[in-house]
Amino acid sequence: MARRMYVVGNWKMHGLSSDIAEVASIASAARAFPKVDVALCLPAILIERAVRAVPGFPIGSQDVHEAEKGAHTGCISAAMLLDAGASLTIVGHSERREAQRESDDEVRAKAEAALAAGLSVILCVGESLSVREAGSAVATVEEQLRRSIPAALATPGRFAVAYEPIWAIGTGKVPSIADIAEMHDAIRRQLDSAYGEGSSAVRVLYGGSVKASNAAEIFSVPSVDGALVGGASLTAADFLPIVEAAAVARQSS
Ligand code: PEP
Repeated sequence: MARRMYVVGNWKMHGLSSDIAEVASIASAARAFPKVDVALCLPAILIERAVRAVPGFPIGSQDVHEAEKGAHTGCISAAMLLDAGASLTIVGHSERREAQRESDDEVRAKAEAALAAGLSVILCVGESLSVREAGSAVATVEEQLRRSIPAALATPGRFAVAYEPIWAIGTGKVPSIADIAEMHDAIRRQLDSAYGEGSSAVRVLYGGSVKASNAAEIFSVPSVDGALVGGASLTAADFLPIVEAAAVARQSS
């Protein structure tokens, strides 16, 4: 099955209300690439303002709580995100797995709650540098996936996995094309075995120092369905060439 390319920006803890103009520039420039699905995951406090500024352009969150509501100070539920106009959320980003000590079980619960509520989900997995150097990157990511992906998928098209080697995030380092292909193929096999036919609609994104200069090479890997982009998603000038590379990669495949 031909999957549409998917390029998603993760603004992390960047952005003030004055940056909604940049969101609008990205949303407007992305219209030139109708064959690529483009979205931005913003700080939660900017979601509602961004949705109002760019109606129809997918705006998401960088995290969600697994409970519907309750005594969870500082947390945000899927219903609240939907109410603000969000249509997707990231779960299990390595910065949260590390700093907030999120476990695979929590990540799975977040993904299941968000999907059940009607959000799309991008679930992140990835190995540390020591694991990569020890030669156990694939086995480690397979185990992370086994423990953190939803048990079943009612709507596989709303679910994506992002392979994000921790050592590549924000460092300018990127795995070799062969290593990206090996990992994406392993993830695809695991999704096939977990979800059967439905897995063909699940997209597998690469994330970690994607830029205009390396996007085309990364997107040349057939099992890469797009990218989760941090630093280079903050401006239209940096982000749109990545979207364009995704459009070109699919044209020539
Ligand atoms: C990320 O944090 O999801 C990410 C991929 O960051 P960067 O593109 O800055 O490496």
